[in-house]
Amino acid sequence: MEVRLFKPCLGNEELENIKEVFKRAWLGLGPKVKEFENAWCDYIGCKESIGVNSGSAALHLALSAFKFPKGAKVLVPAITFVSTAHAVLLNNLIPVFVDVDESTGGISIQDLEKKYDRNCVAVIPVHFGGHPVPMDELVPWAKSRGLKVIEDCAHCAGGAYKGKKLGTWGDIGCFSFEEKKCMTTGDGGMICSNDTDLIAPLRHTRWVGINKDTWDRLQATQGSDIIDAYHWYYEVKELGYKYNMNDLAASIGLAQLNKLDQMRKRRAEIIRHYLDGIKNCQHVKPGLPYKLKDSSYWLFMVRVKERDRFILHMMKRGVSTGVHYMPLTMHPLYQKYDTEIPVAKRIWREFVTLPLFPELSDEQIEYVIECIKEFDNQIKV
Ligand SMILES: *Cc1c(COP(=O)(O)O)cnc(C)c1O
Repeated sequence: MEVRLFKPCLGNEELENIKEVFKRAWLGLGPKVKEFENAWCDYIGCKESIGVNSGSAALHLALSAFKFPKGAKVLVPAITFVSTAHAVLLNNLIPVFVDVDESTGGISIQDLEKKYDRNCVAVIPVHFGGHPVPMDELVPWAKSRGLKVIEDCAHCAGGAYKGKKLGTWGDIGCFSFEEKKCMTTGDGGMICSNDTDLIAPLRHTRWVGINKDTWDRLQATQGSDIIDAYHWYYEVKELGYKYNMNDLAASIGLAQLNKLDQMRKRRAEIIRHYLDGIKNCQHVKPGLPYKLKDSSYWLFMVRVKERDRFILHMMKRGVSTGVHYMPLTMHPLYQKYDTEIPVAKRIWREFVTLPLFPELSDEQIEYVIECIKEFDNQIKV
């Protein structure tokens, strides 16, 4: 049997939506993006959402909204995807790497206090693997020091912590709809906030800095008897990026959002199945303290001391695995920002990601569990 690591859950709903966009023959930034943004606001429970073409773009723009002075410091967890820290460098700011919590792999509140100094302006917690950072502790801590909070929700679309959706706890929430993530638009991302004034200018920044998008201009000329000689007119006041989401992606996103709750439920069910299957293993332990209620976990991870042997064993059995992630200061680009992150440098070596996606069959899950148990028994002798 071959079991892949991730698989987007795509069907007729997405195809029908794409057909509609083809019929209208408007594939770029347009009404579908607006519709998806509105649907996202309703689902997450926030005032403003802005669709972009990746989670990386979302983080880059979100951080730019505050116009922090060049060289200010931003606190980021040591274990995350590179885009979290790239957003800091792309804004001419300095990343300060914070150690992670031993049990959750998320940013450590204790180490935040140690790494904080007066030059820090913001913190970007990442809900690692989909496991929520304790935002009821982090947000008051950050506010008391005047820090802005940007949530990196690339791993937890739709998840909630203490009854409140992730992405609505901080000043801005950023999501990724990359094809492997909890829901997808092929590539895509979303910036959301309850502070409309704060993020509204990003509508221009995501569209190369133009103050009126093409669709708005088209609307302005239609249904009007008065010939608007200025319909073509736009101004650029600020340097922007080509970061917009397009209607084709948004139409897929609308279908995905409709089934996000179903997909979250199925992922939780699979994790429960895995946890039950490996509960007697001596050497392969759950990677995170999975709390499945209201969850949206992107990763099912285990911790194995003999990691490389385990990966090889699973590969020989046809089961794909992954490693999320090597601490960022181990990358050449971030070496000069290296700091005390002992927990991150120890625990990342034990993390292995196993197959998790809604269409994983019970038979496949059983097979993966059998392969894990086989390895666990080999290690015993
Ligand atoms: C995937 C990911 C991103 C970037 O999202 P893209 O849509 O791939 O650009 C950012 N942060 C984290 C933690 C991620 O896993």
